[in-house]
Amino acid sequence: MRELLIATTNKGKMREIKALLAGMPFKITSLADYPDIPAVVEDGATFKSNALKKALTVARVTGTLTMGEDSGLEIRALDNRPGVYSARFSGLLADDRKNNLKVLRLLRGVPADQRQARYRCCIALADGQGVVAVVSGSCAGSIAARARGTNGFGYDPLFLVPRYQKTFGELDPAVKSRLSHRAKALKKLKILLERYIN
Ligand code: IMP
Repeated sequence: MRELLIATTNKGKMREIKALLAGMPFKITSLADYPDIPAVVEDGATFKSNALKKALTVARVTGTLTMGEDSGLEIRALDNRPGVYSARFSGLLADDRKNNLKVLRLLRGVPADQRQARYRCCIALADGQGVVAVVSGSCAGSIAARARGTNGFGYDPLFLVPRYQKTFGELDPAVKSRLSHRAKALKKLKILLERYIN
């Protein structure tokens, strides 16, 4: 079976990507399977440039079909921060809990109708020859007044989905796998992947 290498070590992302690609004729691997590859520095100004950098760098080193995924949260009241800095929003020792606390602190006193946010995801696919495809997806919502639920990862306990008035932390993962930025981008990518293997 052909290999598709996901250029990430993020377990939450990996879990979702694996579930969303289930049924496709690929052996899915991640950077955890390639411990010798040095970390790709995510210094791009956009999700697209980071996704391309991850996919191209890892595909070049391994010669394997590689998916680079870059994603994050944009909060309107914070001028679209944390954006590409989502993973390290609270500094060098950032983790999900500290990042969420920082968001809540910066939004203290901001009323519910001014807490709009959106998740964005860009996925680049590359092989040893270069870029194969680039797709993206977004998911609109707002930031809750406090963390709610333990499902998902990252900012999910804060991210309120308007249709349900529940956070991704509270909603069943099956709901997130229909509505998320990553699900939308992967839906487009699956069509291109099928064309690529045929
Ligand atoms: P990166 O793409 O590896 O730079 O990291 C993306 C960061 O954005 C994650 O570490 C999370 O903080 C945040 N993020 C991206 N997608 C999601 C999601 O689906 N749920 C929650 N947080 C997310």
